[in-house]
Amino acid sequence: MRFSTKAIHAGQPPDELTGAVNVPVYLSSTYAQSAPNRTRGYSYSRSGNPTRAVLERALAQVEGGRTGLAFSSGLGALATLLGHFPSGSRIVAIDDLYGGSWRLFEHHRRQFGVQTEYVDMTRLGPLVSALQKPTDLVYLETPTNPLMRIADLGAIARVAHRAGALMAVDNTFATPALQRPIERGADVVLHSTTKYLGGHSDIIGGALVLKSRSLGEKLRWLQNAIGAVPSPFDCFLVLRGLHTLAIRMRAHGESARAVAEVLEASARIRSVHYPGLRSHPQHALARRQMDGFGGMLSAELKGGLAEARRFLRRLKVFTLAESLGGVESLIDHPALMTHASVPRAERESRGISGGLLRLSCGIEDPSDLADDVRSALRDR
Ligand SMILES: *Cc1c(COP(=O)(O)O)cnc(C)c1O
Repeated sequence: MRFSTKAIHAGQPPDELTGAVNVPVYLSSTYAQSAPNRTRGYSYSRSGNPTRAVLERALAQVEGGRTGLAFSSGLGALATLLGHFPSGSRIVAIDDLYGGSWRLFEHHRRQFGVQTEYVDMTRLGPLVSALQKPTDLVYLETPTNPLMRIADLGAIARVAHRAGALMAVDNTFATPALQRPIERGADVVLHSTTKYLGGHSDIIGGALVLKSRSLGEKLRWLQNAIGAVPSPFDCFLVLRGLHTLAIRMRAHGESARAVAEVLEASARIRSVHYPGLRSHPQHALARRQMDGFGGMLSAELKGGLAEARRFLRRLKVFTLAESLGGVESLIDHPALMTHASVPRAERESRGISGGLLRLSCGIEDPSDLADDVRSALRDR
């Protein structure tokens, strides 16, 4: 089956009891037992819930893994994954990391002695050097946030495995509609389902998909032990989001392309970061490993912070807000909002300047989005 068919059917047969085409929302914390410890597969909804089970199987299938696990947030998924690594473990992570993930890695360093080294993974050299020391996990995002850099999943899987490390990929930005890291060698895929998978800015959720059943079972044990599980209703909403993911990602991509072209043509813009543009330094790699370029992009205005503030005030369709991946277009000022906790010197050395804006292009009419950006760029 191809992706959009899988997203609607894989792991989601009609309900056995009633034939309902959507899994019911099983709002029950506990389950009757016919004799002590004789269950029908469910005993308590932290350990397992039928609505969550359907979501977990569907996620495993669309990412091409053996085990799917749903969580109450993306960071709940990451905290559970990190719980697998004992004190003394070593992680090599990409340097352009989601801020909350960085905060959690640093907490595990201080609290549990799990060391993380951050390296540029847009080239293989720094990773290969970092892997000279024994390493347990290589952790990355691609495209990165907010600069939309691309890392070569297949090449990284090879060097990570040669060094005896597991490889985990945060696939939140691309989604399995555009990129399936397990097919390229990753062992773990992580999602903030809050973003594109949910797709409507109405839930907080997360997921892990594991390539191997044995690692899947270890993490399933931890999922229950830590307990950062989603509500059955949120599981239902993520399943509903998954059903339209393929068409939404196509529409997000069309919007982003229209907006990127307007930005690239403007004399007020210093640079546009969108992997779908020929000017993107890794356009060819993105074309090779992705089935589309997604809805996220960033751009730097020439006039710095003052121009960025003026531009934000003039937008009418884009809403100034954190988060991304919903049907509505959102815009973020990374230096003042999502990346404000990154120390200023490091922010600037990474290219997160006062003039940089990150856009999550929604599925409104692409022409309206392009017009909105064009008129906000115009002279006063
Ligand atoms: C939002 C986000 C997270 C964190 O997910 P939450 O659902 O907010 O906990 C992790 N990684 C990426 C890339 C994100 O965008």
